[in-house]
Amino acid sequence: MPDCIFCRIVAGEIPSNRVLEDEHLIAFRDIQPAAPVHVLVVPRRHVESLAALEDGDAELAGRLMAAARDVARQEGVAESGYRVVINTGAHGGQTVGHLHVHVLGGRQLSGHGTA
Ligand code: 5GP
Ligand code: ZN
Repeated sequence: MPDCIFCRIVAGEIPSNRVLEDEHLIAFRDIQPAAPVHVLVVPRRHVESLAALEDGDAELAGRLMAAARDVARQEGVAESGYRVVINTGAHGGQTVGHLHVHVLGGRQLSGHGTA
């Protein structure tokens, strides 16, 4: 997916501020943070959205969740709390067509929504 901005970030063609990575995924700071901690966890493999995730991807889904947890610990918000969001499709507000998990924290977030 050469035109995918997050594939290009995974490939290192577009710079990003990485906070965690392994062979399956990377996590980097959102360019327009909505909270003091705002990190995106993305699979290295191009998956369009949560809607495109297959039953066989259960292990990858688990890895993304565990990475979100590790990002929260690393960023020092595991105790104070944080929000994990996956915007999906047009009505979900997804603007980048490569599955990504938002990890938001560092301030009191509103009762619902992304921030
Ligand atoms: P979505 O709205 O699809 O759930 O989230 C996409 C997120 O990606 C947005 O929060 C946006 O700020 C972030 N984003 C878009 N382009 C870039 C980029 O080039 N670099 C980084 N680090 N974040 C980006
Ligand atoms: Zn992609």
